[in-house]
Amino acid sequence: MTFKDTGLSEKVLAAVEAAGYTTPTPIQAQAIPHALQGRDVLGIAQTGTGKTAAFVLPMLSRLEQGRARARMPRTLILEPTRELAAQVEENFLKYGVNSRLNVALLIGGVSFADQEAKIMRGADVLIATPGRLLDFFERGKLLLQGIEILVIDEADRMLDMGFIPDIEKICKLVPFTRQTLFFSATMPPEITRLTEAFLHNPVRVEVARAASTATTITKALVASAGGGAKRETLRRLIRGAENLKNAIIFCNRKRDVAILHKSLTKHGFRAGALHGDMDQTARMASLEGFKTGDVDLLVCSDVAARGLDIPDVSHVFNFDVPTHAEDYVHRIGRTGRAGRSGTALTIVTRDDTKYVDGIEKLTAEKINWMGGSLDDIVETEDQGDERRSRRRGEGSRGGRPERGRSDRSRGRNREPESAARAERFARAEQAADEQPREERPAREERPARAPRPTREVRAEEQPRYEQPRAAQPTGDRRRPDRRRHHDDDDTPVVGLGDHVPSFLLRPVRLPTKAVAVED
Ligand code: AMP
Repeated sequence: MTFKDTGLSEKVLAAVEAAGYTTPTPIQAQAIPHALQGRDVLGIAQTGTGKTAAFVLPMLSRLEQGRARARMPRTLILEPTRELAAQVEENFLKYGVNSRLNVALLIGGVSFADQEAKIMRGADVLIATPGRLLDFFERGKLLLQGIEILVIDEADRMLDMGFIPDIEKICKLVPFTRQTLFFSATMPPEITRLTEAFLHNPVRVEVARAASTATTITKALVASAGGGAKRETLRRLIRGAENLKNAIIFCNRKRDVAILHKSLTKHGFRAGALHGDMDQTARMASLEGFKTGDVDLLVCSDVAARGLDIPDVSHVFNFDVPTHAEDYVHRIGRTGRAGRSGTALTIVTRDDTKYVDGIEKLTAEKINWMGGSLDDIVETEDQGDERRSRRRGEGSRGGRPERGRSDRSRGRNREPESAARAERFARAEQAADEQPREERPAREERPARAPRPTREVRAEEQPRYEQPRAAQPTGDRRRPDRRRHHDDDDTPVVGLGDHVPSFLLRPVRLPTKAVAVED
């Protein structure tokens, strides 16, 4: 099948040819003809399959007729993260060169005023993260009754990040007669329910899930003690790596991304960071720096890095073993692309064996140890204590939740119920870690109006006495651990460090008598 056979317009075909693509990928070949006919599409595909073009190209063709009106976008694309939204915008610019359409981006971390001006001008395509979109809508700055096509992308990641109530709300705000193009890598029950409620007789298009990893990738496990020793292990691997051109380093928590980034920089590496707590400009700068080669190492969290199209990475390091085996496949898929060779090294501590088992089961592949197994690891007394207390749930210097890991090397297994609970907790924490700031505009960006009753505001809503300063970190009460545990051995914490307990910020009302005496 060629792109011509899909029924795309001449203008779009010319742009696809100019982009250098000759053959549609399976998701494109299957989805585009139906999308062009106005059918709802349920696409089960993950990033890397060409799914963005699978909705962008037919949208461009369909948008050639008609014009946008002020504040009334014609199409709406929902993305879970700002980076993915920006990436979709790039796709519109690339494939829409012959189309002269107005594309607006509504994402957190960017000034309201600029975004409002674009909406006022009339947007043919509006690409948004759910929180910022609802913010605009509830302030009356945006009308959704002109939406002809609604795209919901990365639905399962939206679920992980707690966006499903927002998605449901948005689906009810757009016209019933719109066309819906819905994409998800997996179909958990919540997502199936959503599609049943909001898609009309959809065409189901499915491309193979990535449960296998490319054969061009050399994979290995590297045993390490925890804490600071783990950073030392990573430095040793980076220094000793053959043909290292650049590397993405994955951490499970965004606070660990920040710590590791700081530590690597301090040790003289050219490193950038990407996590959900960084402001948008910093995130874009990190990404750009990595793409252009200004930095060789990019330390990332899964959510921030998900779906990013970064070509030609020579190495992937898993500083933490991912708790979800599928994330391993996504992570290491960053290297060894397009037939190139790549290396993926995963640092494993004694607490991680359960997750390694999960990965080997999913990929049906045994990963070899490099330089000795966990049995060869000698822990210092402190490291052993830390690990044991972490397992008992006593909290650690690293602030990690107890995760119910099995200890294969000692033949001990935790009972499945508590392990499952612990994993759910780890997953929730991971998602919550990224979510609130993805969406929440900086406090100073908000006009001084009564807060609207949506998720972001709820996240900020605290008793008055608990939010006396703009500079105070915005409180996310869903997050299990709001305290910063500075587990970076490189940076000793002085006093309370960055953390100011909220009780210290409460205004104190002095008894009237006492005030009178002082006066
Ligand atoms: P996506 O799954 O949308 O993130 O796309 C992954 C990568 O595939 C991007 O770098 C696209 O530019 C590229 N791509 C999209 N469509 C095609 C195609 N038909 N042929 C080759 N590469 C493509």
